[in-house]
This record gives sequence, structure tokens and C-alpha cells, in this order.
Amino acid sequence: MPAFETVRVDPHTHSSASDGTESPAELMRAAAAARLDVVGLTDHDTVRGWAEAEAAVPATGVALLRGAEVSCQWRGVTVHLLSYLHDPADAALTAEMERARGSREDRARTMVERIAEDYPITWESVQAQRSDDATVGRPHIADALVAAGVMPDRDTAFETVLSARGPYYVPYHAPDAVEAVTLVRAAGGVPVMAHPRAGLRGRVVPDSVIARMAEAGLAALEIDHRDHTVGAMEELAALADRLGLARTGSSDYHGQGKPNRLGENLTGAAVLELIEEQGALPVVRP
Ligand code: AMP
Ligand code: FE
Ligand code: FE
Ligand code: ZN
Repeated sequence: MPAFETVRVDPHTHSSASDGTESPAELMRAAAAARLDVVGLTDHDTVRGWAEAEAAVPATGVALLRGAEVSCQWRGVTVHLLSYLHDPADAALTAEMERARGSREDRARTMVERIAEDYPITWESVQAQRSDDATVGRPHIADALVAAGVMPDRDTAFETVLSARGPYYVPYHAPDAVEAVTLVRAAGGVPVMAHPRAGLRGRVVPDSVIARMAEAGLAALEIDHRDHTVGAMEELAALADRLGLARTGSSDYHGQGKPNRLGENLTGAAVLELIEEQGALPVVRP
């Protein structure tokens, strides 16, 4: 995305309501410091950070795009679906996200049990890395490994102990990606597929699945993302055109836990407008 975009929109970030390291208010301040006009808060499987982020809109002068990153899967391949401006009281979508959160909890406990046989961590030491009720993920386990002094940083932990291809990895329950698109639309949300070709993290879904997600109501593909190669971005741009999908770009900022910097990729103002037109809620403006 061009760095000269006049309205600076970074629509995909995480706070301590999931696996980001900053509270929602701190994230809003960081967004102001990065000269963003609009920031999207998209914690994994939860909207728990929305209220605190909303409260920080007037003081920071940064508009808030309320969202969530819904954990899904297709035949066991992890898919992340961004949901924007959905009704947070929608029972079906909330139930699916809560189910994934619960399964993430069981899965994290099992992974920690397995890892604890070889590394000095405990469930308690992982809890210490996570704020109350945050959606738990491998980043919290990574932080416990770093705190124990056995890993230098999150990245190294992900490349080794936490690898999806490694012996400690455990999958968790998540809804089917095509069904999740339908669920997000039914909740008044605008579904955008996050980092569709982030191949370094594990397997990715074939284009045919993205086509089925498009038929179910997908609005856009997140194309400008640091986990995509230039080739992947070119292919995704062609696919988006073919399927009539808009394109977004984002930092997928997680605070201090990852190198991603706020505003490193941006989304066009016209796409933000499209999201707001289709969503059940407005963007919260200063
Ligand atoms: P999980 O959701 O528990 O499977 O963990 C995946 C999450 O970890 C994703 O949300 C990523 O943002 C994050 N993640 C993936 N790779 C890394 C990495 N190398 N360093 C830090 N965080 C990562
Ligand atoms: Fe994450
Ligand atoms: Fe993601
Ligand atoms: Zn994310």
C-alpha cells in the first residue's frame, strides 16, 4: 500500500485482550504515535477490548474500527477471518468464538503439559504472561519460554518448540471457514480473509476455498501483509479481481511481541467506506 495514503487506515491489530502485548488503551496511543487516522482492533475470537479502545478515541484522536479475528479452519488448515463492525450481541457468532476460545484453552494446557516434559514452564508461568480472560494462544506460551530464559524471543519459540510441524503442537476446534463467512454476515459483520497466503505459518487453503468463501459473502482479501511474498500478493490481487473482492493491507500489529510496526501496510479509504456501509455498527470517530 502506498505510504502516501492520505487517510491512514491500519485495520488489523491485537491487544492484550488476545495475544498482543499492549492494553487496548495503549494500542490506541501507539496508533496516534504512528499517525494513524483509523485503527482496527481485531483480537482473536473476542471483542473484550472494544470498550477500552472506544474510551480512548477522544483523547487519542484515532478512529476505531471494531473487529475480531475469527479462528476458522478448512479440513484442518487454519484460516483467520476478520469480522468488522458486527453486532457484538449476536448469539451465533459469539457462541462460535467462545467455543474456539474454550478449545484454545484446552489446547494450550495440553501443549504446555507436553512442552513441560522438556522445558521449564508450567501452566501458571503461561498464565503470568496473559491478562485476565485474554484469548490464549501460542504467543503466551512463547513468552513463558522467553521468561524462563530458554528462548531468546517469540520468533525463535515459534520456529522451534511451537512450530505447527513440531511434536508439541496440538490443534483446536474452530468453525469451517465458509460457514464462518455466513455467520459473520448474519451478525451484520463484514468478513475479510486475513493473510490468505501466509505460507510460513503452515498450510494455506486452495483458491477454490477462497472462491466458496466469496460466494458466501466475503468482502475482501487482506493482501498487503508482511507474511506474504511479492509473488503471493500478485496472485492474490489477481484472485481478488477475478472474484470481485476488495483488497486490504494491515500491520497485524501485536505490540512488542512481533516486529510488525503499526501502519507498515495500509488500507484504502474507499475500502474502509465499503466496510462501514456494509457493517452493522459505525466506526467510532473522535
Ligand atoms: P495460535 O493462534 O495459538 O495458533 O498462535 C498463532 C498466533 O501466533 C498468530 O495470531 C500469530 O499472530 C502469532 N504468531 C505466529 N508466528 C509468530 C511469530 N513468529 N512470532 C510471534 N507471534 C507469532
Ligand atoms: Fe495473533
Ligand atoms: Fe491472523
Ligand atoms: Zn492477526
